[in-house]
Amino acid sequence: MSERRPRGAWRIGRIAGADILIRPSLLVMGVLLVIVFAPQFERLGGNPYAVAGVFVASLYASILLHEIAHVVAARAFGMRVPSVTLHLLGGETHLEGESRSPTQEFVTAIVGPLASLVVGVAAWWSALQLPAGLIYAVLWSVGFINILVAGFNMLPGLPLDGGRVFRALIWGATGSESRGVLAAGWLGRLAAVGLVVWAVLTVDRLEPFHLTRALLFGVVAIFLWQGSSGALAHGRRLTRVDRIVARDLAVDAEPPPEAIALPASLSGRRLLIAMVEHPARVYALVEPDGTVVGRLDAASVDRAYREEMR
Ligand SMILES: [Zn+2]
Repeated sequence: MSERRPRGAWRIGRIAGADILIRPSLLVMGVLLVIVFAPQFERLGGNPYAVAGVFVASLYASILLHEIAHVVAARAFGMRVPSVTLHLLGGETHLEGESRSPTQEFVTAIVGPLASLVVGVAAWWSALQLPAGLIYAVLWSVGFINILVAGFNMLPGLPLDGGRVFRALIWGATGSESRGVLAAGWLGRLAAVGLVVWAVLTVDRLEPFHLTRALLFGVVAIFLWQGSSGALAHGRRLTRVDRIVARDLAVDAEPPPEAIALPASLSGRRLLIAMVEHPARVYALVEPDGTVVGRLDAASVDRAYREEMR
C-alpha cells in the first residue's frame, strides 16, 4: 500500500469505488512470463501457451484480490481509496488520509496477506483432491503463487504489509505512532541485512537457481532498506510533531464562551486531527474534570508546527 498517486498507468476498471490501474510494464511482464512458463506446461497436453496464459492471468487476479481486500477494509474505516495499481508481486492501494488508530492500521494491512493465504491454501487443497494433470498443475501453481504473495508482503519492513502490521502493533502497545514507525523502520533494515546474509550463506555458485535467488533477495533487500530509511525519516518528523502539546501552548486567558473545547493533553498528530475536525481560530483547553486551562489559538499551533518542521 502507498499514499502516492501513480503516473503513466492505464485504468482497466473500477471495483468497490476504486479505479483499477495497470502499468504498461505489467503487460510486457505478462507476455514474458507466458513465454518463460509455457515449457513447464508442455508435457501436460493442451496448448502450453494457453495454459501458461491461464496461469499468468490467475497470478494477476490473485494480486488484484489481495489489493481488493485492502480497499474493502480501508473503506469500512471511512478512508477514501481513489485507485489500486497492480505490480508483479503485489499492488499499491492508494489511500487518502491515514489510519487514525493502530486497530485500523492493523486490520487494513493484514487483510491483504490473509486473503492471499486463504486463496492459496484453498487452491492447494483443491489441487490435492485431483489426479495429476492440467487442472492439478494450474491449481497447484495458483496456490503456490498466492502463498508466495502472502509471504512476500508479510516481510517485516515498510512499505510492505508486514511492516505496517508491526508498526500497528508497536503503536498499539506504546500508544505512540512515531515509536511504531521508528521501530518498523529499524526492523525493516534488520530484515534487509538478514536477507543479504541469508542469500550469501546459502548461495551455491555452481547452481544457477541459487544465483538467481540470491540476486532476487538482493533486490528485495534494497527495496526494504529504502522503504525503511523513508520510514525512519517519517518517524523522526512525527516525533518532532509529538512534542507539540496543547497545554504548553495555552494562553492564560478566558476563552470566548462559544469556543470549542479540546482536551489540554492532546498532542502531535491527534491535536492536528482534532483541529481539522473542528476548524476554529480559538479553542478552550479543558482538563478531564472540566476545568478550563486556558485559551488555545490555532495560529500558535500553526507556528509551533512550522518550527518543529524546520
Ligand atoms: Zn498488501
